[in-house]
Amino acid sequence: MGFDFLGLSEDLLSVVERSGYTKPTPIQAKAIPSILQGRDILGIAQTGTGKTAGFTLPMIDILSQGRARARMPRSLILEPTRELATQVSESFETYGAKSKLSMALLIGGVAFKDQEQKLDRGVDVLIATPGRLMDHMERGKVMLSGVEILVVDEADRMLDMGFIPDVEKICKAMPQKIQSLFFSATMPGEIKRLTDQFLKDPKEITVDAPASTAQTITQRLCKIKGGEKEKRAALRQLLKSEDVKNAIIFCNRKTVVKVVKKSLSVHGYNVGELHGDMPQSLRTETLASFKNGDIQLLVASDVAARGLDIPDVSHIFNFEIPNNPEDYVHRIGRTGRAGRSGNSFTLTSPSEKKSLGFLLKFLGKDIPLHQMQGQEDKHQKAPAKPEVNKQDSRHKNKRDSSPIIKRDKGQKPKEQSIFGQSDHVPAFLLRDEPKK
Ligand code: AMP
Repeated sequence: MGFDFLGLSEDLLSVVERSGYTKPTPIQAKAIPSILQGRDILGIAQTGTGKTAGFTLPMIDILSQGRARARMPRSLILEPTRELATQVSESFETYGAKSKLSMALLIGGVAFKDQEQKLDRGVDVLIATPGRLMDHMERGKVMLSGVEILVVDEADRMLDMGFIPDVEKICKAMPQKIQSLFFSATMPGEIKRLTDQFLKDPKEITVDAPASTAQTITQRLCKIKGGEKEKRAALRQLLKSEDVKNAIIFCNRKTVVKVVKKSLSVHGYNVGELHGDMPQSLRTETLASFKNGDIQLLVASDVAARGLDIPDVSHIFNFEIPNNPEDYVHRIGRTGRAGRSGNSFTLTSPSEKKSLGFLLKFLGKDIPLHQMQGQEDKHQKAPAKPEVNKQDSRHKNKRDSSPIIKRDKGQKPKEQSIFGQSDHVPAFLLRDEPKK
């Protein structure tokens, strides 16, 4: 089935066609007609499923009728992180190219004044992180009484980040008669309580994680004898031995992000950092440089783990086992996107035995070991070489000396218009949250 049967306007269909999408993803096929009919939605879907277009496209059509009034946005989209909020605003810009809808982005780290000026002019679409929206509400700069559509995106991430009390206050400030769309990758009790309270006879849509993503990621575990210093050496060894085009290196704490970044730059790598302590302008700039290939390695906290859509990341390195096992799935999901093959290496030292056990229990399977030089364990058998997509020339030749191949500035990664939605979904992606 193509997009033409979903009830979208001609203008939007032409924008969709220009985006190169020929077929709606399962969540788009299920959600778009219901949203256009005015129904509440409870979408159990994670990023990578196409859910952003699933709610932005029908919203653009619905909001095309009517006008915005000063300080009274007509729709509100809540996102857990500034990066995700920015990404959704970019989608609105792309898909709304033919509409006259006005939009404002309320995120921390950006001057209040500019945001207030936009609100004063009246906006059809307000995209916000909960904290910054609450600040504006408390200053009397934004009133939610004119909201017709509310989207709460990545609700379980909001929960992880402690935003649920704010989200609840925001939901309570909404008028009675609104259309609410909630999206969450999992449904922990707190989110269920929220959706039971605020959704009216929602259409429930559950879509599988994008199987192509998980299937195309080769995962390896590297057991490192020692602590952080030895891990940094092991990381450099991997950067040399693997065919790394670009990579995100995830660390659990900002302090570790800074140390790893510094150490890699001292060793001559082209590296940036991304964590929550940085000013927003720098976060945006760094991400843009990584996306366009000016920076090859990005050392990041989990602020970059969820949702970020960077189409062509060849490697993910987990410098540490994530504190929350679910974050492992999100972190490695930054590679192997859009049907490409990707690689993840997770470094672990003896002190992380407990969190490793927790992660493997969550995954329900072992991560194959990658035997590193100098880390041999006579009791362990090295696994066979990672299986990689043979058609992907990136993985054919292992380089020896120079750590990173710099992509020519003008050389764009090859885009694929459709990402696979095959039937097989690895069991670990479908399992309920582990009991804590
Ligand atoms: P999302 O889950 O919203 O973050 O979307 C993941 C990726 O899928 C983004 O890069 C979108 O541009 C892409 N995408 C969304 N809808 C489609 C579609 N119907 N066909 C192909 N790609 C899509």
